Amino acid sequence: MSTFQAPKGTYDLLPPRSATFLAVREAISAPLRNSGYGYVETPGFENVELFSRGVGESTDIVSKEMYTLTTKGGDQLALRPEGTASVLRAALQGNLHKLGGLPVKLWYSGSYYRYERAQAGRYRHFSQVGAEAIGAEDPALDAELIILADQAYRSLGLRNFRILLNSLGDKECRPVYREALQAFLRGLDLDEDTVRRAEINPLRVLDDKRESVQKQLVGAPMLRDYLCDACKTYHEEVRALVTAAGVVFEDDEKLVRGLDYYTRTTFEFVHDGLGSQSAVGGGGRYDGLSEMIGGPALPSVGWALGVDRTVLALEAEGVALDIPAATSVFAVALGAAKPVLFGLVTELRRAGVAADISYGGKGLKGAMKDANRSGARFALVAGDRDLEEGVVQLKDMQSGEQTPVALADVVDAVRAKLA
Ligand code: AMP
Repeated sequence: MSTFQAPKGTYDLLPPRSATFLAVREAISAPLRNSGYGYVETPGFENVELFSRGVGESTDIVSKEMYTLTTKGGDQLALRPEGTASVLRAALQGNLHKLGGLPVKLWYSGSYYRYERAQAGRYRHFSQVGAEAIGAEDPALDAELIILADQAYRSLGLRNFRILLNSLGDKECRPVYREALQAFLRGLDLDEDTVRRAEINPLRVLDDKRESVQKQLVGAPMLRDYLCDACKTYHEEVRALVTAAGVVFEDDEKLVRGLDYYTRTTFEFVHDGLGSQSAVGGGGRYDGLSEMIGGPALPSVGWALGVDRTVLALEAEGVALDIPAATSVFAVALGAAKPVLFGLVTELRRAGVAADISYGGKGLKGAMKDANRSGARFALVAGDRDLEEGVVQLKDMQSGEQTPVALADVVDAVRAKLA
């Protein structure tokens, strides 16, 4: 073991489990790539103000969990704690919203950083795949994103997840509700921290998991009763479109989520096999965010799905993804055959066949062990005598059957067998 360990709250992705992570990223992004979303990649760090203005000073993500640093040049930067603010910043900077054709639909995949209390399913470095549809107010867009996330989870074989849906209202109706809720909260017996939260971001108090708080929240004014007609109609349309697609959801009027920028549609994907860190993904509409970071009005909607927790959810459900063996052909060279087989492996690789060879001068037994471990369907075995005859032995690793193949025919023979 080395003297060094991965920092607290982080972990390494190592084979073979790392293959599942790649497959999950692939499965989540496939429905997006198939629905008009283009790939976007932004830096791992941004100016800290993008997040304090965009995500919100009052959120835990910004006030407690952000990794910030000052560069030698005096810039205040932060490792990105989430994707939406960066993607919107990039779209604005690249003028994508002016190129015609709104919404701008983007997807991304990357690492995010939050200084959290590390526990199972909650890490300081984690991975998300996300989607943002920028610059259109259309219930079909909200519905599209919910349906695509559902499709992604189902394509992975997940079943025990639920979709929670709510509307947070807009800049017309939410302030009215906010005041009503604040008035209610002021009458409760809450600890100092919670009283402060009630003043800064009262909706988040609804999200408090403690029973002592939840008990007092019975009878609190509910946002549902304060939604303006436009928000109500919008929300009903989203619900109808999602329902028509056969996607089941639960109305959850307490769902507020931890970021300040959400308006109207909010949703969360929860998995019942994950204990307390049950949210595998979430998102919603953020109509005001563009203006908050200095852009024009661009009503938008998006989500981010956590790759780490999706993998945990698969494990909790006992779903093993069908991940094909990385290697199709494994070469076992004896004696002087090494350079010849190494040449054949190079040829196979250039022909697009996944091929590997035993290294380190092992004998037949050790090299065959390598071949078995690789999961390859076929082995190419050759020793001095085979070379004299101008052949290699093509061994079917399942049946054990072995046939000599002329050196010049190996690539074609292997391709025919794999086809
Ligand atoms: P959020 O931006 O907090 O809504 O996060 C979206 C998704 O990212 C969550 O549903 C989780 O799946 C995942 N996620 C957020 N924070 C963490 C974390 N600290 N560790 C692992 N996954 C996380």
